[in-house]
Amino acid sequence: KNLSKYFTGKKGLLNRQPAQVKAVDHVSLTVNKGETLGLVGESGCGKSTLGRTILRLIPATEGQVLYNGEDILTYDKKKMWEMRRKLQIIFQDPYSSLNPRMTVYDLISAPLEVYKIGTKAERREMVEEILQEVGLDKQYLNRFPHEFSGGQRQRIGIARALILNPEFVVCDEAVSALDVSVRAQVLNLMRNMQQKKNLTYLFISHDLSVVRHISDRIAVMYLGSVAEVAEKAQLYSNPMHPYTKALLSAIPLPDVKKKRQRIILQGDVPSAYNPPSGCKFHTRCPYATDRCKQEIPVLRQMEKGHQVACHRAEELM
Ligand code: SF4
Ligand code: MG
Repeated sequence: KNLSKYFTGKKGLLNRQPAQVKAVDHVSLTVNKGETLGLVGESGCGKSTLGRTILRLIPATEGQVLYNGEDILTYDKKKMWEMRRKLQIIFQDPYSSLNPRMTVYDLISAPLEVYKIGTKAERREMVEEILQEVGLDKQYLNRFPHEFSGGQRQRIGIARALILNPEFVVCDEAVSALDVSVRAQVLNLMRNMQQKKNLTYLFISHDLSVVRHISDRIAVMYLGSVAEVAEKAQLYSNPMHPYTKALLSAIPLPDVKKKRQRIILQGDVPSAYNPPSGCKFHTRCPYATDRCKQEIPVLRQMEKGHQVACHRAEELM
């Protein structure tokens, strides 16, 4: 709720002046228990920062993270330590997130040891069980990450994230580094694990077709702000924000007879150091007016389950 994360850095090459990046700028989102909320946007839009801020891996600048109604940002160390078990993250690159000197067994059992769960024999059993659940044989337990393919390494990453039976998992570009051929398999595994273990996912990806595959609802981010939130079917059949329309117009429709009007965005994503005034999208929006340059649009409900932050949403429907 109203979550922000600002970074302070130096701007410019010669005359380096302190400047602020509003990586996450007053974001309010709801993730319902048991669902997958997809979070999409171009790289640098703040998706990963939002995911990490929600998990308290980096401190928030302002706002709240309400988990079952309690603001976990107010938790002290001990309470947060208990909460951490329920909150996990799966990273993009399983190779760099898995310590190359640890065996598969050590990698997956580490969280159990940190939380002092079970005896040695019980831990062994738990690790073997989760390994089997993610589709790897227990004969792999004494091997090292480099001995595995990308898809297998991501299965190890998933096993490690799920060994503590978490409730909420942030998947940050979890399949983006994988070959297209194994991507669907890992996505299916993640979906099966979700059903089996009652997981709630925040699924971050720059790829709208990946997000479509796994999400129940989708939030679109642009330069630190949420532009649109909708049920999956609503978003793909009736996108309302000009940015979402542009993103979707770039991916081909499954039905070749249908044609979407291709919207070509002008220019690049503006620098987050100096984001545009008013609607941050106005420098690239084909529908921008003077009002858009001055007034920040807030998320408004346009139909049930469908919110859009655009001054002209009604006209453009
Ligand atoms: Fe475009 Fe204006 Fe809507 Fe922003 S508020 S998306 S600039 S029409
Ligand atoms: Mg990222």
